Amino acid sequence: MSAPVTTRFAPSPTGLLHVGNLRTALFNALIARKAGGTFILRLDDTDPARSTEAFADAIREDLRWLGLTWDREERQSARLDRYAEAADRLRAASRLYECFETPSELEVKRRKQLAMGRPPVYDRASLGLSEEEKAEKRAAGNQGYWRFRLDQERIEWEDGILGAITIDAGSVSDPVLIRADGQVLYTLASVVDDIEMGVTSVVRGSDHVTNTATQIQIMQALGGTPPSFAHHSLLTGAGGEALSKRLGTLSLRDLRARGVEPAALLSLMARLGSSQPVELRADLEALAEGFSLEQFGAAPTRFDPEDLFPLTRAHLQAQPWEVVRDRVLALGVPENLGPQFWAVMRDNITVMDDLTPWWALCRDGAAPEVAPEDAEFVAEALALLPPQPWGAGAWAEWTGAVKAATGRKGKGLFLPLRKALTGRGDGPDMAALMPLLQAPPQGL
Ligand code: GLU
Repeated sequence: MSAPVTTRFAPSPTGLLHVGNLRTALFNALIARKAGGTFILRLDDTDPARSTEAFADAIREDLRWLGLTWDREERQSARLDRYAEAADRLRAASRLYECFETPSELEVKRRKQLAMGRPPVYDRASLGLSEEEKAEKRAAGNQGYWRFRLDQERIEWEDGILGAITIDAGSVSDPVLIRADGQVLYTLASVVDDIEMGVTSVVRGSDHVTNTATQIQIMQALGGTPPSFAHHSLLTGAGGEALSKRLGTLSLRDLRARGVEPAALLSLMARLGSSQPVELRADLEALAEGFSLEQFGAAPTRFDPEDLFPLTRAHLQAQPWEVVRDRVLALGVPENLGPQFWAVMRDNITVMDDLTPWWALCRDGAAPEVAPEDAEFVAEALALLPPQPWGAGAWAEWTGAVKAATGRKGKGLFLPLRKALTGRGDGPDMAALMPLLQAPPQGL
């Protein structure tokens, strides 16, 4: 029997989640959901200088807001003993070796290699140090750090998105797994976690392809079975430009503040860059149904945040009163008016915040908007307004009376009256809106 499907989303709590992270999180969540498997939230917090509890909380909050709930949470800072044990095993197997080059020494080597037209791969000079030489360096106050010794062979895997991948280990530097101050680096921690947590499928950005090559070897050196890997393309801006610099402004927090609804984000991200059309789906279950990594291509994926707004609009229009009730009441709309207010307004908004001016209009009335040439007509019309409260027939009654008194009809009749009552030229059907108006036009 094959192992139960287990995926993980492994952000470092060193910043806010952005749309690129969301793609990774969503793909992993959908794979687990589709298979009835386990989705782990793993906080990659081995770097105490950059990881904060506030960012960890923000990550959890953003994921909950999206409905991307996880079955299990792990954090790397709680597993340092596991990594130390794995490092000991690698040392015992002569796969981990101590190095002493300083960053500037490494930089000099790198430049020389590049000048000679060679790839800047670490030359393994420290691998040749004798025990005495190492002892001397330590005695001189030089703290060693530790690299994994790659087997110089081709590393191959069948990538769930990119297809067959081959990487020549000789073209990759032996990765540093432990820093001079003893801090275990992500590469080792991730491998140990993936093995010990039974991760069966890793989906992450294509910036991790080289990591995958080294991680496969480290896993094998630790006696683990590598999971299946898939690397999704990175997002670019609408014009094809790299998004990395703008990701700060594309945090989930920002999009949420701009009124984007979770369903819009999830629906777009679950299909963007795939052969399937983007369609609004209400929940993860529905998104998981048609989801398959094979439908995604390797080419960079264009992302335009503006695409989120038509989806948000469509999502809101489909929401029944019960679902939005609390959010509408929070605007101050009284419970008895709520369902009717929502039924009338939901087709006239893109984001929930658009309800605010509409509710202000209903509560306080509007300052009439009157074109100079309509001033007399509007004054005459306002004098004919039926008394409040206005019922379902109020608009027909009023416009009928104004028509009879002035002889105006069609647009010349209706548009100035709409503007006089609402202060604007667009909006919901006036017959439906009028009964929601709690106050007469301002100044009347
Ligand atoms: N913490 C790593 C990152 O955010 C995780 C990469 C992985 O999925 O292994 O890039």
